[in-house]
Amino acid sequence: MKITAAVVHERSGSFSVEELDLCDPREDELLVEVVASGMCATDLHGRDAYYPTKFPKVFGHEGAGIVRGVGSSVTEFKPGDHVVMAYPWCGECPNCKAHRQSYCLRAFDLKMNGTRTDGSTLHSKNGKPVYSAFFQQSSFGNFTIANERFAVKVRNDAPLENVCALACGGQTGAGAVLNVVKPKSGESFVVFGVGAVGLSGLMAARIAGCDPIIAVDLHEPRLALARELGATHTINHKEQSDVVSEIRNITGEGARFTLETSALPAVFREAVDCLLPGGTCVLLGSARKGTDVTFEMPVLQNGRTVRGVIQGDSVPKEFIPLLVDHIIGGRFPVEKMITFYPLADINRAAAESSAGKAIKPVLRMPR
Ligand SMILES: [Zn+2]
Ligand SMILES: [Zn+2]
Repeated sequence: MKITAAVVHERSGSFSVEELDLCDPREDELLVEVVASGMCATDLHGRDAYYPTKFPKVFGHEGAGIVRGVGSSVTEFKPGDHVVMAYPWCGECPNCKAHRQSYCLRAFDLKMNGTRTDGSTLHSKNGKPVYSAFFQQSSFGNFTIANERFAVKVRNDAPLENVCALACGGQTGAGAVLNVVKPKSGESFVVFGVGAVGLSGLMAARIAGCDPIIAVDLHEPRLALARELGATHTINHKEQSDVVSEIRNITGEGARFTLETSALPAVFREAVDCLLPGGTCVLLGSARKGTDVTFEMPVLQNGRTVRGVIQGDSVPKEFIPLLVDHIIGGRFPVEKMITFYPLADINRAAAESSAGKAIKPVLRMPR
């Protein structure tokens, strides 16, 4: 079928909104009418070929929409179901078999190769393949193909243009808190960097009843939003030279839990140094290969934990519906961090995201 999608033709090229051909769903696939898609830093890293990337390519990995067709073996979905498309995993590697699919050993290829596992593409133009299946979805278009294994059915009253933001950034930040560190009410929490992932972690910390909740960032408008979403204290890193001491002042002894989302080694070290003995720092920031960080060994020896987390350790078919309930219940007001753009303005969305002006751009697809 003919669809409208945003294509990048060359490394760091602009997005071009064009008519493409989309294949029919295979037996285990869904045809999804995409209503909206979040834009995440990884889309722009893909555009700029931080990782080996084939062009032309359709990006997008935070899609939400309505099922319009199902393959012959699909039993979990039917036309009309509302879905969020989550990250892919192989199902066969040791981590997938141990139900730790966010650490799938084949995740990189499934997310980045631009094809299904057999090398086929979802999209083409004038008979030539267009690389697609980015995160096995390529959601920057008004229709796409999703594999039933990675699609998550959500309540039909869920606002699709808001819940799309859960697919990657939302469940990454919220999952780090609710699935990994699982704070108890009254425990202290600090988030370094309040972009979409950091704010999702912060909203989850509020759901868990953390107190104090401290947000650290360089940008005052983001800190103001952090306060609106539940931060009891904010620290502007530009104005406060000793962030670790300030966190100790606020918490008394140090923080029980910290989230690091900036991917800057100096900030990561602060997120560890401000911990209480026995506290945990979770790294969510995505640094480039070759980035080193140093910690003092006695700091770690004193019971502190430092660990990385991908996609919030979540099993999306379980966790995303839970977050949708929090959204509908007003406890996870994801809409406050969203700026909407029509797909036609995707380049403006990318520019405003890179400039820090839009925290979570969401693209509305043409109907
Ligand atoms: Zn796997
Ligand atoms: Zn992402």
